[in-house]
Amino acid sequence: STTPVTPQSAQALSLQGIEHRFGANRVVKGIDLEIAPGEVMCLLGPSGCGKTTLLRIAAGLEPVQQGRVALDGHEVAGPNRAHLPPEKRSVGLAFQESALFPHLSVLENVTFGLKHLARRERIPRAMELLTQLGMADYAERYPHMLSGGQQQRVALARALAPSPRLMLLDEPFSSLDARLRDRIRDDTLHVLKTLGTATLLVTHDPEEAMFMADRIALMRDGRILQVGTPFELYCLPTDPFVVTFFGEVNELSGVVKGGEVATPMGMVKADWLEDETPVRVMIRPEALSVRQRARAGVEPHRHSHVIMAKLLGRSSLLHLCAHGSDGEEAHLHARVPGVYLPAPGEEVDIALDHSQVFIFPCRD
Ligand code: ATP
Repeated sequence: STTPVTPQSAQALSLQGIEHRFGANRVVKGIDLEIAPGEVMCLLGPSGCGKTTLLRIAAGLEPVQQGRVALDGHEVAGPNRAHLPPEKRSVGLAFQESALFPHLSVLENVTFGLKHLARRERIPRAMELLTQLGMADYAERYPHMLSGGQQQRVALARALAPSPRLMLLDEPFSSLDARLRDRIRDDTLHVLKTLGTATLLVTHDPEEAMFMADRIALMRDGRILQVGTPFELYCLPTDPFVVTFFGEVNELSGVVKGGEVATPMGMVKADWLEDETPVRVMIRPEALSVRQRARAGVEPHRHSHVIMAKLLGRSSLLHLCAHGSDGEEAHLHARVPGVYLPAPGEEVDIALDHSQVFIFPCRD
């Protein structure tokens, strides 16, 4: 279904044609991105791809060199308008090392951003956010009396308390240990969704992006490669880099013949590509299911065997050698659920889940 375009449905954030250079280094290369009201968008990508720079441009911390930034349909930086400073943009900011004011209590840190509210409304509002983030009991403490994770929660409460129209979060969970991180992510997402706050969250962690995001924008080298829901990026990737960014993949090469590509595990459909197109066949380790050979010698030309098996905990990783009907060999990693540790040399049958196989034409 489509939503009619009305003034009410103005995008919370709209970035158009954003370019950015540091000296001769072009770090943002023509980016367009829109965040709908209430939407959580994750900017995902490897270190140095320009995520933080783009976030800082949205916040007004970095001047716009080229392009246009609009909040709620109002241009705040661009050709038609001088740069609106960060404090006038109604955006909440929280960064990896968000510093709290050391001489103010937790409660005072959070009420600090509420000067626009009447005095008697400030404390209830601050306590509401501290409660939602599990920090109400610490209201009277000072920052140095808190753990890193607790400080992070207070920083989030401080950023959210003024009800910004847009939250900008740069790796807000990365300094936390894994268990704590999961809980704070959970609480933060809950608060963002309860308040309906549009959010742009920078992360280099694909799992964090999948958990937090309504949509993900995957960046590489200053450009956005794909924007979509976690499902779309994981299951319908439009670029080989998108596939590899979400985890290790097996890669084979092949050529399209009659709308198909031959692999040691059988034919894979590629009927949208012209015949004789050289292709990369990308196979997630989870796409391979492995079974002990039912009967020896059924298809002697297609026997595959185990090179090594390792237990990883919830899954087992198998290093396999697969033999195709044309006699070609392929070395593959398979990740199978549970404990499955066949001996090296054991013959196995390999089946392919075609929904986790991706084919891209080779580019040179
Ligand atoms: P990370 O995940 O490591 O924070 P990122 O994707 O956020 O990376 P940016 O911080 O936006 O990347 O940096 C993009 C590029 O711009 C990098 O090559 C970086 O070295 C460069 N850069 C960033 N800030 C500046 C600056 N103030 N002056 C010069 N170069 C900069």
